[in-house]
Amino acid sequence: MKGFEYLEQELQEMKNKGLYRSLTDIQGEQGATVQINGKELIQLSSNNYLGLTTHPRLRKAAIEAVEKYGAGTGSVRTIAGTFSMHEEYERRLAEFKHTEAALVFQSGFTANVGVLSSLLTDQDVVISDELNHASIIDGIRLTKAGRKIYKHNDMADLEQALKETQEYRKRLVVTDGVFSMDGDIALLPEIVELAEKYDALVMVDDAHASGVLGANGRGTVDHFGLHGRVHIQVGTLSKAIGVLGGYVASTKAVRDYLIHKARPFLFSTSHPPAVTAACDAALDVLLEEPELIEKLWDNTKFFKKGLEELGFDTGRSDTPITPVIIGDEAACMKFADELIQEGVYAQGIAFPTVAKGKARIRTIVSAVHSREQLEKALFSFGKVGKKLSILG
Ligand code: PMP
Repeated sequence: MKGFEYLEQELQEMKNKGLYRSLTDIQGEQGATVQINGKELIQLSSNNYLGLTTHPRLRKAAIEAVEKYGAGTGSVRTIAGTFSMHEEYERRLAEFKHTEAALVFQSGFTANVGVLSSLLTDQDVVISDELNHASIIDGIRLTKAGRKIYKHNDMADLEQALKETQEYRKRLVVTDGVFSMDGDIALLPEIVELAEKYDALVMVDDAHASGVLGANGRGTVDHFGLHGRVHIQVGTLSKAIGVLGGYVASTKAVRDYLIHKARPFLFSTSHPPAVTAACDAALDVLLEEPELIEKLWDNTKFFKKGLEELGFDTGRSDTPITPVIIGDEAACMKFADELIQEGVYAQGIAFPTVAKGKARIRTIVSAVHSREQLEKALFSFGKVGKKLSILG
């Protein structure tokens, strides 16, 4: 069909610059290994931190929910799509997070967009870390509030932003808890102190901290002992929790307000019963199988140390997300292709997801990787690094 030649041209330009990405089909399950093009590869690219995507308790809960309630809910939450299980899960989640209330959105992305686009008015301002996730950026694009961006994890710059915005009614400081491309943790205690000093609100996006940091995976607020001092915690049910969804844990008033005003919540159908039941089972796993989180951190330390000993630049990561910084976009994509030949799936991430010249292989280990798999992956990284002269 004619009419989209301009898109074809842009796609071709992306191909010429090595920025074009095709979707990779996985045949089978998401686990420590995956089948891609008929080949079994060690999976180092998924956010399945605890291996819960295939955990027997989640599978069972999902199957039973389908049998009992069917495949879908047939409505948005506010009309006829709230089942008892949705509300019961939100109660449990709030209790787990030590907050008054929680509300589940269709995804972490829509949770951020829903909160940021609805809670602030043109009398308010949002103050955001420059490396915050795309969903925070898009939420900010939709708010009527003013906006200010501070340098990544730079507390002097944040303080300056707080000083310059004193005339606004409400100020909301928003940060990722764990930054998704570098794996570093927000300086949340310092952020909270500054926010208290300047009477601002704090929101943290714990997408990569839910199920990873804090007691039983309660997230960064728990990790730093900041309960009651962070106003809004957003998180995802799609990464360590292994299923799908986003949540907002906050006060009853915030929950109530979002139910009435957050457009992604209001105008999109609720989660199928299998999704909610599996998330509920995942909560049981977090509470009853803490050894999974211990294994995740054991594997993280082992793999990170291995990459560093090989001589790779792993940036400033403190978490299971370990970037292997290559720099040049085309070299990075070549590195990822070579890794596939070696039996390792670790995707290259390039502009616009990260800054130009900062292309990287982003690795994420999980609790279900065996030591042998991680050793094999390290061997492959070393081999490809030498072949492509990334390593000396
Ligand atoms: N926030 C951050 C920091 C993320 O990394 C992601 C996922 N890429 C999201 C939010 C969105 O979560 P979800 O995949 O559940 O939409």
